[in-house]
Amino acid sequence: MDEAQLKERVGQLLEEHPPETTDRLDFLHARFDAGLAWVHFPEGLGGLGLPRGMQPVVERALYQAGAPDNDPRKIGIGLGMAAPTILAFGTEDQKRRYLRPLWCGEEVWCQLFSEPGAGSDLAGLSSRAVLDGDTWIVNGQKVWTSSAHIADRAILIVRTDPDQPKHAGLSYFVLDMHDPGVEVRPLRQITGEAEFNEVFLTDARIPDSDRLGEVGEGWKVANATLSNERVAIGGGAFPREFGMVMNVAKTWRERPELRTPETHERLLRGWIDTEVARITATRLRQKMAAGVPGPEGSAMKLSFARINQQLSALEVDLLGDDGLRYDSWEMKRPTRVDFFGKDAGYRYLRAKGNSIEGGTSEVLRNVVAERVLGLPTEHRVDKDIPWKDLPR
Ligand SMILES: Cc1cc2nc3c(=O)[nH]c(=O)nc-3n(C[C@H](O)[C@H](O)[C@H](O)COP(=O)(O)OP(=O)(O)OC[C@H]3O[C@@H](n4cnc5c(N)ncnc54)[C@H](O)[C@@H]3O)c2cc1C
Repeated sequence: MDEAQLKERVGQLLEEHPPETTDRLDFLHARFDAGLAWVHFPEGLGGLGLPRGMQPVVERALYQAGAPDNDPRKIGIGLGMAAPTILAFGTEDQKRRYLRPLWCGEEVWCQLFSEPGAGSDLAGLSSRAVLDGDTWIVNGQKVWTSSAHIADRAILIVRTDPDQPKHAGLSYFVLDMHDPGVEVRPLRQITGEAEFNEVFLTDARIPDSDRLGEVGEGWKVANATLSNERVAIGGGAFPREFGMVMNVAKTWRERPELRTPETHERLLRGWIDTEVARITATRLRQKMAAGVPGPEGSAMKLSFARINQQLSALEVDLLGDDGLRYDSWEMKRPTRVDFFGKDAGYRYLRAKGNSIEGGTSEVLRNVVAERVLGLPTEHRVDKDIPWKDLPR
């Protein structure tokens, strides 16, 4: 299918389901079924098996026609992390069951990876799943789970064989967040909001048919999720002066009395860094169109975190006393992550998490050193020892 045929297909969708008279969800279902959700996905799963680079053709045409979108900021974990993993490792039945409600935003997903004792060293995790007939019984605790309070499903990695070395004894599942064995407790963060949660799993039940990948191969599946996560966080398509630099530049233009040569210099540096990141993200997307995301996603995520922190700090400095104002410390449980909204103080505090979430900057530097620059790998003494014998 070429670009003209793709546009024709979009035209047909709009004709059969005029956005002004069609219910939002009905429109999204029809869009998915027409293969116009993510054109690079296979036919029957919301796509047309086209190159990923053709997606903007669809987005532009639908935007111009005033069609509803699928609210990607609320369903970011589903779209960015769960969907590519399900596509790569799911059975046909799993793909058919999960992808449509995921893309349409009917089912919100969260990611149950981190634990109190396993963040950067994710393979050291200790939540357990034991097979009972054809059902897995899961016990353990997860932490920092963004959106768990609104999630219907989770991607989950747990230990299924403690006798194996830590990377070999893990398995990967889809968990129904409404299972009675799942308890979600809010965790308040530096911004005052509870965007993430602790999740306690007590005899939570997962049918074996909700396993993604083979038993014991959870690490391989999780790695696919993590490389997609870094791209999802750091590799978006941005217009010029998007995000943090847009906010600071606006303040700079509107409040000339605040300017100093030093802040001018910092703003210019931040603007240039943002442009470099934007252009590099374009290159990353082109590489993704040709295959799966590589370690370059880690470099993008690294620069996204650094730029956000530097520019949000500049804005607070620029604004002086005004920069310290804060709208409200009342605890809220937001349904979407808002990196760039609200006021300067909020942006400054929220940006602190950018260098932790989705892999810390220190660990991403290791990834870049080892997999991009080819430097010697970190010394790992626990690779071949059964997990149960590791000191904890
Ligand atoms: C806003 C936010 C949202 C999040 N959302 C989710 C979510 O939805 N789901 C989920 O599963 N997790 C989520 N996380 C968790 C996040 O992925 C972890 O916090 C992160 O992986 C770091 O793990 P840790 O907190 O256990 O820190 P640790 O791993 O204990 O690290 C502590 C410090 O040691 C450094 N360090 C550790 N190992 C090395 C090394 N080998 N070399 C150099 N330095 C090292 C780290 O960089 C860090 O500075 C979220 C975190 C935040 C802040």
